[in-house]
Amino acid sequence: MNLFTEDMKEETASRGRIEVICGSMFSGKTEELIRRLKRAKFAHQRVEIFKPAIDTRYSEQDVVSHDNNTIHSTPIESSGSILLFTSEIDVVGIDEAQFFDDGLVHVCNELANQGIRVIVAGLDMDYKGIPFGPIPALCAIADEVTKVHAICVKCGNLAYLSHRTVKNDKRVLLGEQEEYEPLCRRCYQKAVKEGK
Ligand SMILES: [Zn+2]
Repeated sequence: MNLFTEDMKEETASRGRIEVICGSMFSGKTEELIRRLKRAKFAHQRVEIFKPAIDTRYSEQDVVSHDNNTIHSTPIESSGSILLFTSEIDVVGIDEAQFFDDGLVHVCNELANQGIRVIVAGLDMDYKGIPFGPIPALCAIADEVTKVHAICVKCGNLAYLSHRTVKNDKRVLLGEQEEYEPLCRRCYQKAVKEGK
């Protein structure tokens, strides 16, 4: 079975559904979100994209993935605001969803019930392997969940989480290669044991 469904009916049908794309850092979550949103645009659907105002790594306005494949987005402070922007919209994309409040679960249900296709991308776990923010609950209510994987930098197997390589206990630490590395379960346990 193909990992990403190519069923055009699913992608263009105007009916409400929730799709979750989750995984560790460097797993291609945002790239997959952008791919789906661009296809919806090609199908002449009205697309709106949101991200938490906290994520200002690249630019205030764009959802930007690591290969610079950009798409315009609106930064917002709290999940409830999404409902204010979604009249006459067919598809809503939400990036970095792990940083939103738990109200996002209700918001996504509300949108899907209105007939909107909702595509949510976010980190499934934090750097300690603890489920992150509203993502676990979103996976539960989603019509479809796609888990994407990075590659373990130590052994080349599928990565399990994004291990933080700098000493900092703050849960929200936005960064790139210097602060995180994707590791498989075995290499992560080894790194923790060695105090790295
Ligand atoms: Zn490994």
